[in-house]
Amino acid sequence: MNQKQFERKAKKTIQKYNLLKKSDNIIVAISGGKDSMSVLYLLKKFGYKVEALHINLEMGKWSEAHLHNIKEFCSELKAPLHVYSVRKELGRSMCSIKSIVKSKAKLQDCTICGILRRWIINKKARQLGADKLVTGHNLDDASQTVLMNYFKGNLMIGVNEGPKVGIIEDKKFVQRIKPLYFIPEKEVENYSRSMKFPVVYERCPCVVGAYRHKIRQMLDEIESENKNIKENIVKSFLKILPKLRKKTDFHDLRYCKSCGEPSRNEICKACIIFQKIK
Ligand code: AMP
Ligand code: ZN
Repeated sequence: MNQKQFERKAKKTIQKYNLLKKSDNIIVAISGGKDSMSVLYLLKKFGYKVEALHINLEMGKWSEAHLHNIKEFCSELKAPLHVYSVRKELGRSMCSIKSIVKSKAKLQDCTICGILRRWIINKKARQLGADKLVTGHNLDDASQTVLMNYFKGNLMIGVNEGPKVGIIEDKKFVQRIKPLYFIPEKEVENYSRSMKFPVVYERCPCVVGAYRHKIRQMLDEIESENKNIKENIVKSFLKILPKLRKKTDFHDLRYCKSCGEPSRNEICKACIIFQKIK
């Protein structure tokens, strides 16, 4: 896939799934990785009104390098940047939260970090007045998620998945969208490298041993001999998704009794973690 084909594919996803309007206030959640940096660049190029939001995880040199790149890239693109630090938002560093939580519950590093990141990102995007929250999720992420839900024995967990997340209209829940949903990770990397984006390509140091990482390795291995399996997984899931959604009671979404953020349960996952670090 060359640069033009890559850009066309992302644009097609935006149009086909009606992901964005030119009048939308768009916030792109950027980690500093190839996916989110590429999506920020593309939306700017397509003429959307975008701002960037970054959560600084304060994980030493790793986070410093990302923050440095993000500042440089956003200023080059003239995209307003909002940075929030985990320590300021949650009172502790991500590393300290992880070690306390892991001593009390069977949760993986990436799960803890993901839940807390999403909690801060949704809250901040809403406070910034976002109509849409864009993430850099790609085809690899999407196929891994479908498979992980399958392996858990519950495809219904993924009922909110797809290029457009959060089908529930809720004033507290900013709709998340994924323009790179059908683009393989390798193609995103090729694009980012060929465009010479300031990006660190190594994975987060915490990823080793994570369940998702094992699924990634397994899918990569199978795909090396069977082309298109990631696309097949995602497309077949999207075919049955309307039926899954019909079976779900979306009035399920309520507000967490503790923090007031949208939640499917009485207490949201982030607050369960907060209780453990009190
Ligand atoms: P991950 O869960 O690390 O695969 O990240 C998925 C998406 O979440 C990325 O493509 C970004 O859009 C967003 N994201 C991840 N980490 C951060 C962060 N530290 N700050 C803001 N957005 C992030
Ligand atoms: Zn909560």
